[in-house]
Amino acid sequence: MEINALRTTERRRKARMAGIEGKCNCGAVTLEISGEPKAAFFCHCEDCQKAHSAAVVPIVMFAADDVKVNGDVLTWQLHVTPRVTCATCGTRLFMEPPGMGVRGVSANVLPPGTFSPMFHIQCAASMMPVKDTLPHFKAFPAAFGGSDDVVDW
Ligand SMILES: [Zn+2]
Ligand SMILES: [Zn+2]
Repeated sequence: MEINALRTTERRRKARMAGIEGKCNCGAVTLEISGEPKAAFFCHCEDCQKAHSAAVVPIVMFAADDVKVNGDVLTWQLHVTPRVTCATCGTRLFMEPPGMGVRGVSANVLPPGTFSPMFHIQCAASMMPVKDTLPHFKAFPAAFGGSDDVVDW
């Protein structure tokens, strides 16, 4: 996709994301977010489907160092990606793909109105096609190491 379109979306998103706090459903764990997001998207991959018991998962990606965790958490993994949840209520807080230095925070733990999705990823594995005006990448956009190939929905 056009990198300029990505940048425009990014500017809009950044304007609303500075210094926000994430919170699990019971409030025992908070995430202090100090940096700007690298991307915001919906993930349709099978890992997310199984880990979240959901068809699609909204994610905001930050540098790992920009997401500070306060409170007791559990870390577990389905296949290769460690996933961090609240030890008390089980809310899925974020995932941390190995070796990438990023944390993909579940958008539903962030303040309402702060999620501005840029695209959909891993659409080839989708169990529920979502028809909207965003790009629907088969795997990943080129700007994030993928091929830019899209699905036909
Ligand atoms: Zn909790
Ligand atoms: Zn996923």
